[in-house]
Amino acid sequence: MDKFWCEVDLQKLLENIAILNNINDKKTIAVVKGNAYGLGIEEITNFLQDKVDMFAVYSIKEADKIKVYKDILILSPDIEYDRLKDLKKNYILSIGNLEVLEKFHKDSNYRCHIYVDTGMNRLGIKPEDVKYYVNYIKENCLNVKLEGIYTHLHNSSKINYTKRQIINFKNSIESVKSQFEYIHCLSSNSIINKEYREIAKFTNTVRVGNILYGYSGMSFGFKPIYSMYCKIMYDYYVDRGESIGYGNLYRTKRKTKVGVVNIGTIDNIGVIRQRRQNFVIHILKTAYKYFFKSSYIYYNNKKLDIIGNPSMNYTLVDITGIDYKKSHKLKVNICPTICDTSLRKKYIS
Ligand SMILES: *Cc1c(COP(=O)(O)O)cnc(C)c1O
Repeated sequence: MDKFWCEVDLQKLLENIAILNNINDKKTIAVVKGNAYGLGIEEITNFLQDKVDMFAVYSIKEADKIKVYKDILILSPDIEYDRLKDLKKNYILSIGNLEVLEKFHKDSNYRCHIYVDTGMNRLGIKPEDVKYYVNYIKENCLNVKLEGIYTHLHNSSKINYTKRQIINFKNSIESVKSQFEYIHCLSSNSIINKEYREIAKFTNTVRVGNILYGYSGMSFGFKPIYSMYCKIMYDYYVDRGESIGYGNLYRTKRKTKVGVVNIGTIDNIGVIRQRRQNFVIHILKTAYKYFFKSSYIYYNNKKLDIIGNPSMNYTLVDITGIDYKKSHKLKVNICPTICDTSLRKKYIS
């Protein structure tokens, strides 16, 4: 039996797309990097192929996992050079430097988007160089078709900073934008912001991942499309006053019914995929969780008390007085993005 599994609700995915379409009149690139945020790239792209305009992944290697014929934007400008010969026709590369152009094969054709770095200072073309790059490619690389241009808003909680980024992007492409079919900068956390949408009116496409799957945007109605489940392996009673678990840290205050779940710290239980906004807040939250015993295993939406600390492979839960049957599944707070591809998934439509 699987230790735990993931149920993916495709109906909710549809609903999330409907919410997105409500606030967005642009073309949609569904980001499916990281195995579609842990939810299974093959199934998710299969389901989404006629509902979005394009897919985006991190690398060519990831694009190879997509079986449907739909345009796929490879986001990383750090391109796998050994794969540049005879790329599939639906693959679109991101150009973030001139070096990659030298690696292109003369007798192959390349579809590309230009990636502009408006502040992340990682990879990408600086706004002031955009015009030069576009003209350079037009004149020197006849096998390169420039189809799009984009930037990434990497810190959308900083309002003024992000606004400036969008405006920088706008200014940098002003003289060349008519040459591009796709112009994009908004992603999950920026498309939900009305002000950003207003400033980004000159764009015609969005790239979204998190809100589609319900990892963020909950206050705007987006819902998680995934639930993780586990089962209790076996259960037993422990008398009052006995200790349970490692280091005898836990002492029963009453006769206790204990359930054993075979997931543990190795499975990263209790790790919530959440941006660490601030280190101090993170520490406080961790401390809070320690003192106010949060739980990550639920029975019919009721939190179960965790007994002691989870060990590497097992977690003990208090199921005293709970009428559960062996076949019952328990919801567990494990984030699919940190699970590997072997995680069993069940798609519900
Ligand atoms: C991951 C990623 C996205 C999607 O971001 P979400 O917050 O999941 O919408 C968009 N653009 C780039 C460049 C990315 O790397």
